[in-house]
Amino acid sequence: MYLISRCLLGENCKYNGGNNRNQAVVAFCQAHSCYGVCPEAESGLPVPRPPAEYAGGRILDQTGADVTAAFERGAAAALAKAIKHAEKRGEPIEGAILKANSPSCGSGQIYDGTFTGTLTAGTGCFAGKLQERGIKVISEKEINDGKF
Ligand code: SF4
Repeated sequence: MYLISRCLLGENCKYNGGNNRNQAVVAFCQAHSCYGVCPEAESGLPVPRPPAEYAGGRILDQTGADVTAAFERGAAAALAKAIKHAEKRGEPIEGAILKANSPSCGSGQIYDGTFTGTLTAGTGCFAGKLQERGIKVISEKEINDGKF
């Protein structure tokens, strides 16, 4: 079973109420066992809300509010739900396709805290929790490279 960012499947769960529907990801899910996840939807934060990015090891929104605790709470809740679902299905979590650059879902590169679209090396808090468990995380940008 693969974990998939729900915004990539077209769900309007982004901070601004939109989504990041990606046809290659949708097609992947039609051919594989998948389970949609959105750690920020589990955080209790409202939608719409200001964007947030990592800055100095914390996650701050564009007004300067520290939302680290809410993001961590959402990531832990999403992970717990995914594990429970995998156990119920009797399938291991084989990998994850998560939205690139997000402070929750990004893997390898994330926005740098300047809200200018600039990227820096780093991993989102949810993606990091998966990697700590040995779960491979790729982004929608890598799906066509045959990584899974
Ligand atoms: S990037 Fe992750 S946390 Fe953000 S909307 Fe998509 S699934 Fe949710």
